[in-house]
Amino acid sequence: MAEESEMDDARKRYDFKKTLEKLQSQQGDGTELITLYIPPDKQIFDVTNQLKDEFGQCANIKSKQTRTNVQSAISSILSRLKYYKRPPAKGLAVFCGTVRLYGDRTDLQCTIIEPPEPLNLYMYRCSSNFELDPLKQMLEEKYVYGLLVLDRREAYWGFLRGNRIEPIGGATSTVPGKMRKGGQSAARFGRLREIAINEFYTKVGERSSAIFLAEKDFFERFKGVLIGGPSPTKEEFEAGSYLHHEIQKKIIGLFDVAYTNEDGLAELVDAAKDALKGMGVVKEKEFMQRFLKELVKDAGLAAYGEESIRKNLEIGAVDTLLLSANLRKSRLRVKCQSCDYTHERTINVEPGKTVRDIDLGSCPKCTAPIILEEETDIIDELAKLADASSAKVEIISDDFEEGSILFTAFGGIAAILRYRTGY
Ligand code: ZN
Repeated sequence: MAEESEMDDARKRYDFKKTLEKLQSQQGDGTELITLYIPPDKQIFDVTNQLKDEFGQCANIKSKQTRTNVQSAISSILSRLKYYKRPPAKGLAVFCGTVRLYGDRTDLQCTIIEPPEPLNLYMYRCSSNFELDPLKQMLEEKYVYGLLVLDRREAYWGFLRGNRIEPIGGATSTVPGKMRKGGQSAARFGRLREIAINEFYTKVGERSSAIFLAEKDFFERFKGVLIGGPSPTKEEFEAGSYLHHEIQKKIIGLFDVAYTNEDGLAELVDAAKDALKGMGVVKEKEFMQRFLKELVKDAGLAAYGEESIRKNLEIGAVDTLLLSANLRKSRLRVKCQSCDYTHERTINVEPGKTVRDIDLGSCPKCTAPIILEEETDIIDELAKLADASSAKVEIISDDFEEGSILFTAFGGIAAILRYRTGY
């Protein structure tokens, strides 16, 4: 079950990324592409009112073509919003407008996305391209790390989400400095200081743990904690187990940083760069390493290349199918317009291009034009073949070295086989 849902996540992520790439490639002739972000708590009623208002204001647009296009886009969005009583749980992103296609053609296209993470902004924007940054950020935010910097006087904590640092808050201590006042005994001063330090660490441990544990889907998303500060403070803090035990066991490492305020968080992330490399992709990494090991062993259990994998899938020889998340290919089933000739082939799909832009040629049997019968994303198609023989399917990102090798050196399609085959 667990594996199945992970697979779904990887697939959803792949589809989401592909949709964003497509939107990214779309351009309008004027400022006529509408981006609309609706957060979950926004009333649809308010949104439609603003859209109607914007529709009226289109009268001020000088270019007739732009005016008409903006008005068509607004009308199209309004008609789609009718189906929503309220925004979905994570909000709604709408991209609508007349986009340039190949040649001189244009087409009014509307894409509605229910984002994978909650949208926290409302935005209406009209431009010559779509505004995608809020969604792109979600793509980066697959994993979350807890950040904590501290010395004996000050502490600060936050999150690392993808590449984005989110500062949360901090605390300062009343731990007295090292210099004691005259008349105080050294032993007593030292004891008081130890007590104050212990109290401060306890407070920092409790408060930062509570923040980290409150992260939603803690066990799935929260990958670990980075602790920064001068020595021996951070070592002392770790050794004292001041963090909640679930957090304590997720400490990734201790790193030297000079600042223990908000500025220290960026310094910490920088210092931990090597430790973080590939953290989010441990499982993917293991599969790739297994594949590369088999390849070196040369015992016939590593296969790659579309043709070889296809044959191995057909005979049920694939144990684990490895597909690069960078694959942008489609499997086409084409047929002759007049005779019974059919054929399957794989093509590269560039963002913004559709199969309709490709010349499919003519029938080798009767020279009548070839027409498209079905187009399937190659990952969908190969995953389906894999399912038929209960092979595992892993979608491998290129966020780590072996992952990018899968794409660059093996065409993005590889497999670990159950037994040696001739393919
Ligand atoms: Zn034919």
